[in-house]
Amino acid sequence: MPFIDFNRLRYYVQPYALLRWLNLDLTRIVGREWRGACPFHVDQDDRERCFAVDLRHGRFFCHWCNAYGDMCDLYARMRGGSSYQAAIEICRHFGVEPPLRY
Ligand SMILES: [Zn+2]
Repeated sequence: MPFIDFNRLRYYVQPYALLRWLNLDLTRIVGREWRGACPFHVDQDDRERCFAVDLRHGRFFCHWCNAYGDMCDLYARMRGGSSYQAAIEICRHFGVEPPLRY
């Protein structure tokens, strides 16, 4: 069975496009990072913006609940399923061939 080349996938689907599709509330832009409310925990303080996505490397990190990973992990955690399934669904949505590695 082929593997998904997750590293290459981020060149096929830009992280910001995925973030928009997932409808994440990221409102602060700090350099190459987008920050906003974390989808994995409930903020006590609405102004808290502890969730950050590095657009260049396509990785996310929450400074509060320590959730982290790449864009496929983000999708998988939000919608359920494995990272592999996430990659397939992301590629299907954006109309690109999954970058496979044999
Ligand atoms: Zn969090």
